Amino acid sequence: MFCNNCGKEIDDNAYVCPNCGVKVSSGQQVETTVSKKVNGLGIAGFVVSLVSLWLGMYFCIASVVGLVLSIVGMCFRKKCTSCNGLAIAGLVLGIVSLMIWAIVWIVVGSVIIGISGMA
Ligand SMILES: [Zn+2]
Repeated sequence: MFCNNCGKEIDDNAYVCPNCGVKVSSGQQVETTVSKKVNGLGIAGFVVSLVSLWLGMYFCIASVVGLVLSIVGMCFRKKCTSCNGLAIAGLVLGIVSLMIWAIVWIVVGSVIIGISGMA
């Protein structure tokens, strides 16, 4: 293939052009693009989980979405350590918000059962 920067012919497997030292588009570059996509997924999972934590039980479905996005982000993790951190944070937040609202629903449910039992 040919270098995008200087135009000289270089090895197909080359990661950096030996002539000008610029990174060339190869499999490595594609991988970076994938990592960016995964990074976005991890961030989306994190944000959705965070939002669901704040917005409460009406949005507890959002914590499921956040959880799924975080898991997907983690499944595709490779060399991007910063997005791994976000994906894990989103995963933890999703689990925490799910647990919080599960407890809330159990408490509310038992109160409702208790009231109807007394009536
Ligand atoms: Zn070059």
